[in-house]
Parts: sequence; structure tokens; C-alpha cells
Amino acid sequence: MQRSTAIRRTNQNDSIPRKASKPNKVLNLKPKKKTKPKPKKPNKKDPKTMSEETIFSKIISKEIPADILYQDDLVTVFRDINPVAPTHVLIVPNKLIPTVDDIEPEDEATMGRMLVVAKKIAREEGISDDGYRLIINCREHGNQEVMHIHMHLVGGRPLGFMLKRES
Ligand code: AMP
Repeated sequence: MQRSTAIRRTNQNDSIPRKASKPNKVLNLKPKKKTKPKPKKPNKKDPKTMSEETIFSKIISKEIPADILYQDDLVTVFRDINPVAPTHVLIVPNKLIPTVDDIEPEDEATMGRMLVVAKKIAREEGISDDGYRLIINCREHGNQEVMHIHMHLVGGRPLGFMLKRES
């Protein structure tokens, strides 16, 4: 008789004062703290987050106008806005690679395409027989203004020495 009463009391929870129950981890009932999501840092190597970052990206995506001579899946060619010779075009990878120092092994095909397309455009411009110059500037000492790799194709007149000698 006594035994059955004890069992009933325990089951009914009516006689033993209890502490507030702990959060139920299984059901995850603990109220979640509101935290501000951290702004994602742009991944400079990810072409998705890098796109539209340079003026050349906008030319490639035709957001801003330029005199585009050629475009394929890897490169775009357009006339330099401030030409230094009768022919001055820029051969630019569609993928934003900021400088030569950022080229990865996976960019080999793109770099090769830039040269193949340079030859083609030079022929079309009629400057191949006389010759021309291809230039890629890199960073500060190279005087690189736009941080999106580009190869200058310059020709149509004698270009002189490549660099002035320091006296
Ligand atoms: P670099 O000094 O090698 O970075 O050369 C950048 C080149 O981009 C310069 O020759 C500029 O004249 C050229 N450039 C800058 N903005 C434009 C543009 N919107 N369209 C065409 N060429 C541009």
C-alpha cells in the first residue's frame, strides 16, 4: 500500500519542489541569441566576387562602352581610350586577374589565348609585317594603372627603344 502511494507521488510531480528545468538540448528549445551576420570579406581570387570590380570588367560585361574589336570565352580586346600610337589596343582576360603576380597555373590557357589573339589583331590592323610591341605592366614599378591584367598591343609607327637608359 505504502509503496504504491510513493510511486504515485513521483509520477504526479505534486509534492517535490523542483528547480526550473534545464533547456532541452535535444529539442534545441534555448532561445537563440540574435547576432548580426558578419559582412563577408570579398575573396580576391574568386572571379564571382571579383567581377565588376574594375573598369575593364565593366567593359567586358558591356556595362560601359568601349571600342571592342574582339571577344571570346577567355579574352576581350578593345581600343585604348588614350592611344600612344596608331594602333593601341588592350587584350584583357575576361576573368579578373589583378596582376601578372596573381596568375595561377589554371590561367595558362587564358594567357596563351592573349598572345594568339594579339597576333590575330595585329594582322587585322595591318601592322604585323613592320612589327609592334606587346607590353604588360605589373604593379607600381611597372606603372600599372588598372588592376586587371591587360596586354597593350602597340604599333603603326617606329616605337624606339623600349625604355630610356638611366644616365
Ligand atoms: P596600364 O598603365 O598598363 O595599367 O594601362 C592602362 C591603360 O588603360 C591605359 O593605357 C589607359 O589609357 C587605358 N584605359 C583606361 N580606361 C580605359 C577605358 N575606359 N577604355 C579603354 N582604355 C582605357
